[in-house]
Amino acid sequence: MKRIYMDHNATTPLLPEVLDAMLPFLKDNFGNPSSIHWAGRDVKRHIEEAREKVATLLNASPSEVIFTSGGSESDNLAIKGIAFALKEKGNHIITTQVEHPAVLNTCQYLESIGFCVTYLPVNRDGMVDLDELKESVSDKTILITIMYANNETGVIFPLKEIGEITSLKGIVFHTDAVQAVGKIPIDVKDLNIDLLSISAHKLYGPKGMGCLYVKKGVEPIPLIHGGHHENSKRAGTENTPGIVGLGKACEIANRDIEPQTVHLTKLRDSLYNSIMDRLENVVLNGHPTKRLPSTLNLSFEFIEGESLLMNLDLEGIAVSSGSACSSGSVEPSHVLTAMGVPLEVAQGSIRFSLGRENTEEDIEHVIGVLLEIVNRLRSISPLYPYKKTESG
Ligand SMILES: *Cc1c(COP(=O)(O)O)cnc(C)c1O
Repeated sequence: MKRIYMDHNATTPLLPEVLDAMLPFLKDNFGNPSSIHWAGRDVKRHIEEAREKVATLLNASPSEVIFTSGGSESDNLAIKGIAFALKEKGNHIITTQVEHPAVLNTCQYLESIGFCVTYLPVNRDGMVDLDELKESVSDKTILITIMYANNETGVIFPLKEIGEITSLKGIVFHTDAVQAVGKIPIDVKDLNIDLLSISAHKLYGPKGMGCLYVKKGVEPIPLIHGGHHENSKRAGTENTPGIVGLGKACEIANRDIEPQTVHLTKLRDSLYNSIMDRLENVVLNGHPTKRLPSTLNLSFEFIEGESLLMNLDLEGIAVSSGSACSSGSVEPSHVLTAMGVPLEVAQGSIRFSLGRENTEEDIEHVIGVLLEIVNRLRSISPLYPYKKTESG
């Protein structure tokens, strides 16, 4: 059976070029980069080259890049690190209701130890309201953490405007840019960003690897204490293959960002247009234009996303659903709920997230299979009001 992967917001395959760059560091280049002798020096040089590649992609300085174990650790280091560093100054943090759990649960933990958190709502398009953001700022606000692009809907937040607010008010600004890096150009200086999280496995690099951009002069308290690695912000002997892989992935992302945007936009639009032409009662979840080129979140009314997902999986097609089965009942995602998507519409949602290796043929194949499954599921759904009767 033909296998098609359209779940790139969950993770991406490792690019062969990235694997090739990593392999020497799993074999002969085993040295500890802190060692003074030849074995360490050579590895150290490659780590610093990787740091430069990450910095180039973000328009940062290499010394502002801290390697971590992934997006979740980067979010934790940024949010807890700043909360702990500035707790004498204030105890208020602002975020949104639609963040990744790595941000939401970190904020909830901080609430449990005395911090106050405002979770900004979003509108039906999944967009935050800047006036609401401005109104929620107080003289106790120490940190604003708002994602760059949403993992479920692909909605891109107005970071430039948020950065203007935070720099005017002297508030630290963190963004979880895990879904945006490599898909849209990012300039941390232009956007006034203080901290920015990256995960390697969302941009064709290895799992368990990420980094945090920390602007010069911003000083989060470390989560992991130990040696003086990573500018004393994150202790532990470096994950050298992972670091080299992340560097390579960033170099490729930087090189290919324009052609990839064209490629993904074309595929996504042809997927969307064919579905809308050929099926009724399909709803787009997310902003119509301010969205990642790769992400398409659709609700197929009158059926459950979970059944659609499982039926697509049986046909070799990997997507994800906007709802998750928990203790027997299907719970809609917190993102769609925050957007005010009605429960029964949210339950029929599916996220297609496209990637480099997807082709026009993949799209055609998926459309054919999808039409057949949606029509079949609707024909047996007690919720579907437009059923054809047997003999007229
Ligand atoms: C995947 C993801 C994370 C977590 O990254 P890991 O490297 O898997 O820990 C954080 N935020 C967003 C938006 C993500 O999509």
